[in-house]
Amino acid sequence: MITLAAKDHYETLGVPRDATSEQIKSAYKKLAKKYHPDVNKASDATDKFKEISEAAAVLGNDEKRAHYDHYGTSEGQQFSGGFEGFDFSNFDLSGLGDFGDLFDMFTGGSGRGRRGHRKGRDLLYDLDIDLEEVAKGTEKGIKVHKLAVCEDCDGTGAKDPSDIDSCPTCGGSGMVRITRQTPFGYMQSTQPCQACRGEGTRIKHPCKKCTGRGAVEQTTEIEVKIPSGVEDGMRLRVAGQGEAGGRGAPSGDLYVAVHVRDHDIFTREGDDLKMETEITFGQAALGDEVEVPTIEGNATLRIPAGTQPGTVFAMRGHGLPNLRGHGTGAQMVTVKVKVPTHISKRQEELIRELEGSQKHKKGWLGL
Ligand SMILES: [Zn+2]
Ligand SMILES: [Zn+2]
Repeated sequence: MITLAAKDHYETLGVPRDATSEQIKSAYKKLAKKYHPDVNKASDATDKFKEISEAAAVLGNDEKRAHYDHYGTSEGQQFSGGFEGFDFSNFDLSGLGDFGDLFDMFTGGSGRGRRGHRKGRDLLYDLDIDLEEVAKGTEKGIKVHKLAVCEDCDGTGAKDPSDIDSCPTCGGSGMVRITRQTPFGYMQSTQPCQACRGEGTRIKHPCKKCTGRGAVEQTTEIEVKIPSGVEDGMRLRVAGQGEAGGRGAPSGDLYVAVHVRDHDIFTREGDDLKMETEITFGQAALGDEVEVPTIEGNATLRIPAGTQPGTVFAMRGHGLPNLRGHGTGAQMVTVKVKVPTHISKRQEELIRELEGSQKHKKGWLGL
C-alpha cells in the first residue's frame, strides 16, 4: 500500500519554516478551533483536524521539529497508531492546552509503549526518475539496507513461542512498584521493570539469528509504485517498509522522495509541458503541418498561415496526467522563426521582390 506523504507541516499550519514556537502555537489554535469536528461538520473536517494536530505536535516539539526539518518525516514512533484511536471527546477545545498536553495525548505520554520496544525508524530514500516515467507511471525495485524483521523468529526474538515467559521480576506487568522513604512518609511509585526493560517477558532461548533482538540488518529490495503525474520533490510513503521495531513492535515507514530529472526537450509547468520548435519564415507565412516531439512520441502540429514568431500553441492532452486524476495537461509549443543567414542569389531576388511588393508597409521579414 502506497500513499502520498502527508502535506508539508509548515504548509498545513500556514507558517514560515523559521516560525517561532509562539507563531506555531497560535496558528495551531486558530486552525484547531476552526476544524474541530465538534464544530465543523464538513466531511473533511476530521481529516483536516488530524493533519493540523499532527503538524502541531511535530513542529511544537523542538526535537521532532529538527528531525522533521532534516528528513521531512515525523520520527517513527509517534503517530501511526495514535491517530487511529484518537478520541475527539478528550480534546479540550476551550483550553487547547499547551503543546506538552497535546503531544502526550498523541504519544500516550512516553513515546515508548509501557510494554515492548518502540516502533521501527522511518527511512528516507531518494529516487531519480525521468519525465517519461512521470507521464506513464512506473514501478521501481529499490534496494534498502535496513534493520528488517528476523525471519527465523518472525521478529519475536525467541526460537519457539514456548520460549517466551513472563518476566519473574515484574510478574509480566512490565512495571515494578517501588517504595521510598521521604520526609513526608513512605511514597509509592511505579517504574518500568529493569529486568525486562518494561516488556514483561523473558526469553529463555533467544533466536540464534538475531540473538533475541527480533530484527537483523539486511538489504531488502522493495517494489515501489510511482503514480503517473508525480511531482518533483514529492514524498511517497510505503507503510511498514521502514526499519523493524524491536520484538513485536511495528515497523517504521519508508518514504521515497521523488526527484524528476531535467529533460532535454521539455520543461514542466504543473501538468503542462513546455517546448520550443523552429519553423522557416515560409512556413510561418504560408502555414504548414510540422512534426513535433511529445512525451509519447511525435505528433503533428498545424501552423496556421501568418503565424508570428513567439506564438504559443497548446496541444491539448499531450502534457502530463494529473496526479489526482483531473485529466491531462497540454504541451505548450513556442514557435521560433528561423531567419536564414546564407541565401542563394535566386532566394535573394525573390525576397527583394517580396519586400518591393510590401514596400508601402513595414517589411515583415525584417530584411
Ligand atoms: Zn520485568
Ligand atoms: Zn530471530
